[in-house]
Amino acid sequence: MAKHQFQTEVSQLLHLIVHSLYSHKEIFLRELISNASDALDKLSYLTLTDEKFKSIAFDPRIEISFDGKDRRTLVISDTGIGMDEVDLVENLGTIARSGTRLFLSRLSGDARKDSNLIGQFGVGFYSSFMVADKVEVVTKKAGEQQAYKWTSDGKGDFEIEPAELDGHGTTITIHLNDEGKEYADRWQIEDLVKKYSNHIAFPIYLRYTSGDEKKGQEEKVDQINSASALWRRSKTELTDKDYKEFYETISHDAGEPLFWVHTRAEGAQEYVTLFYVPKKAPFDLYQADYRPGIKLYVKRVFITDDEKELMPVYLRFVRGVIDSEDLPLNVSREILQQNRVLASIKSASVKRLLAEFKSIADGNKELYAEFIEQYNRPLKEGLYSDFASREALLELVRFKSTAVEGWTSFADYKARMTPEQKAIYYITGENEERLRESPLLEAYKQKGIEVLLMADEIDEIVIPSLGKYGELDLKAINRTGADDALKTEDDKKKEKELDPLLKLIKEVLGDRVKEVRASSRLADSPSCIVADENDPTVQLQQMMKALGQKEIPDFKPILEVNPGHEIVKKLQADSSDKALFEDVSHLLLEQALLVEGAQLKKPAEFVRRLNRVMAKAL
Ligand code: ADP
Repeated sequence: MAKHQFQTEVSQLLHLIVHSLYSHKEIFLRELISNASDALDKLSYLTLTDEKFKSIAFDPRIEISFDGKDRRTLVISDTGIGMDEVDLVENLGTIARSGTRLFLSRLSGDARKDSNLIGQFGVGFYSSFMVADKVEVVTKKAGEQQAYKWTSDGKGDFEIEPAELDGHGTTITIHLNDEGKEYADRWQIEDLVKKYSNHIAFPIYLRYTSGDEKKGQEEKVDQINSASALWRRSKTELTDKDYKEFYETISHDAGEPLFWVHTRAEGAQEYVTLFYVPKKAPFDLYQADYRPGIKLYVKRVFITDDEKELMPVYLRFVRGVIDSEDLPLNVSREILQQNRVLASIKSASVKRLLAEFKSIADGNKELYAEFIEQYNRPLKEGLYSDFASREALLELVRFKSTAVEGWTSFADYKARMTPEQKAIYYITGENEERLRESPLLEAYKQKGIEVLLMADEIDEIVIPSLGKYGELDLKAINRTGADDALKTEDDKKKEKELDPLLKLIKEVLGDRVKEVRASSRLADSPSCIVADENDPTVQLQQMMKALGQKEIPDFKPILEVNPGHEIVKKLQADSSDKALFEDVSHLLLEQALLVEGAQLKKPAEFVRRLNRVMAKAL
């Protein structure tokens, strides 16, 4: 008998599961059945594709039995692939996925929040310890002679020893604790299987005794799930309830789907797809090692659920099934990635999904708002990464705006434009509140020109890369070149008159700025800074720094001053006090930098200047 320690993370996970998820303890059955189904999938695939396994007697089934009298044990067995000694140590002693570690770090200790999170995350086998004092796993790998028994009380270590088992597969015996007793019951088990595992593709049997002791008892075995490939049935046969149940079966998500798209393609290629959009974005949406959400089947045989190529990265939140009639069963990973059949299923699926999003956007504003709250950002990633879908995605992304409450689209903006307006204006920045107060907006507001407020980090990268929406230019108002529309003949005259003053200010500021210009975008503020058309904005520079880019060249801002502002007018009238003129010039720049959210390199100097000017004014 060999004793092993659990990996530290496993102990941590076990502790958390047992202490914060007890209100959701029933999910252990779903998790164990899902593991059994995976094990059957793996073996079924091998029997079809691998010579070594073709002769194996394979009767795929999951069976549940329990001791109804003392209510002390519950047994879940499968005839799947099984595990050898090494598998046992690796699979039931460590945590391989870094996603699990991330998950652990996200748990807050607040049971209610955590149980929401856990709904999205398969805690798997270890959840059995919520209802067990002890768990025994007896398993034999298909094609091998020796079976092994794994035993643990979930407290820190486990034991492995040789054992006996007929045939191949895995039998898990749960020694129920007081909380788990209720599950040693025929109706409880049936209910839970119907609720969570009805659409598992293999039959699930329940073994129980019926009758009573006096009249005689009899042992019965009933199939308790429907075990059909639901996606193969026709839409008209299926109810919302069927779809939602199936979603739970495949997604590990205890929440509901927001909507789904079920498509059957016939003709050049035959396949069925059933896609779901989860109501809540998957917890690992922004993790590089996110778990892909699509299961690939060929003629109803499960092939893989670990293939990121099945969906473009930006649609990684989609859950569901692709089942093809035309792919070969023994597709390897390498073949999958270049397979033409799959490539065309994939591109048709993307089109279908985007079309569905559009029809919801047009027909069900409330639902679409919910969708956008969760998935606006991945769609914007698509604008950047999926050139072929750009047109479609441009109609799907949403923004905040100075003109309307809530979300708006490019198309709506266009519809609100005045005939004279030639471009779509936007401003990027760190957050919406700050953007709404930006001095750069002043003149646009005065002239009634709408500006889109882009506070998503990704906007800085994506929107400039678009350049246009239809025939309309997209112009950032925190850059040069966006203010032409605002300039009247009168403005141009005033600018000319300001030239000598601008030269003086530039002399004072030296290479702190690239240029000093007259502004036509300001109303109440004396100054603002903008980025040169091709330079990164302050926010983008900060983002590059945050992403670890060390050598960011020192991009100098352009200072714009407001010819109509009192300070500027006074400077223009009298610049004889040299010291004061210098202080005010620097302050014009520094206040504009601060409003933009930039950090001053020498804050102490700024404060000294401010104090000198205040002293003079008093
Ligand atoms: P997950 O299923 O999310 O990978 P689990 O903790 O539930 O995590 O299971 C860990 C691993 O143990 C599985 O990936 C699988 O390799 C193995 N395993 C669990 N249950 C079974 C089973 N019934 N038959 C074969 N292997 C199993």
